[in-house]
Amino acid sequence: MPIREDLRGRSPYGAPMIDVPVTINVNENTHPMPREVVEAIGREVHQVALNLNRYPDREFVTLREELAAYLGHGLSKENLWAANGSNEILQQLFQVFGGPGRSVMSFVPTYSMYPLLADGTNTEFIAGQRAEDFSLSVESAVEQIREHRPNIVVLCSPNNPTGTGLELAVVEAVYEAVATYNGITIVDEAYAEFAQDPSQTALTLLEGRDNLVVTRTMSKAFALAGARVGYFAAAPAIADAVRLVRLPYHLSAVTQATALAALRHRGQLLANVEDIRAQRDRIVEKLTELGLKPAQSDSNFVFFGGLENEKEAWQALLDDGVLVRDNGIAGHLRVTAGTEEETTAFLTSLEKYLKG
Ligand code: PMP
Repeated sequence: MPIREDLRGRSPYGAPMIDVPVTINVNENTHPMPREVVEAIGREVHQVALNLNRYPDREFVTLREELAAYLGHGLSKENLWAANGSNEILQQLFQVFGGPGRSVMSFVPTYSMYPLLADGTNTEFIAGQRAEDFSLSVESAVEQIREHRPNIVVLCSPNNPTGTGLELAVVEAVYEAVATYNGITIVDEAYAEFAQDPSQTALTLLEGRDNLVVTRTMSKAFALAGARVGYFAAAPAIADAVRLVRLPYHLSAVTQATALAALRHRGQLLANVEDIRAQRDRIVEKLTELGLKPAQSDSNFVFFGGLENEKEAWQALLDDGVLVRDNGIAGHLRVTAGTEEETTAFLTSLEKYLKG
């Protein structure tokens, strides 16, 4: 196969897709979509179907306006950009600010797509390190950035797979270190709505920081993973730069209509966030009681250690119809906080396995 030499031997993104009753392995929102929202999406999509012979609004102006209104923090449509999931958002940012001869750094363990997106855009991936407890201090982050001078730094907060949010002081310090040589700092806030304190968002740092990008998604809190809508907030010049690499009309009319309907019904959709938070806290509490070591979570999932054999535990859960995620970290697994019933199924199965 005459593929690019640098892609030879690489593996694609590969969270297992197994059809089992309790699928809590990819941090989706598993709460059923409220009926009214389903109907509203249906109506909006029906409306745009009448005009599907035409290309969609290439600038998705209404969607950017409504996303800005949702985020607040004095943002307007000029600050907003959207794409097919925050994965595409990150890909576009790597295309513009990375590329051959350039590098992107993130701190592992972190979201497994960063190195893959780096490969795809021919950007060197630098795996920055965290402390043994997976935390990241100002001193350590700044020292590693000074050593490698990456063109892009991606901070995942709350971090996937560990679940914990970064203090804003770390984001500020990283930004200062990266901005000294005109690099870009991206804060991936895919799980921001689930944070213990949602006011601790990097959106509060955007003003006056022209090289800062905060990415978000509608896949998690908005329960819209299937629609593929991610977005970012940044200085208008960043959105302009991304226009150089986006495909024309990349956000379909169906996608725009779906996202708008969901945004306009956010009261109902975000009401489930409270229950997901409660299930998450319940998981942390019960795992602690079972003698395991769950990390503090600001997200809709819990990362926990203390397992003697995580592969065996993963299989035992699967045998009971519960699919969780093995991120390849010894003694650890990650579980999404689902509905109350799903959470009960997970906790019951895990307890049974531990008491074996
Ligand atoms: N960032 C993080 C940290 C994630 O965990 C995910 C999805 N698992 C994404 C980005 C991408 O999500 P999406 O493309 O659905 O917006």
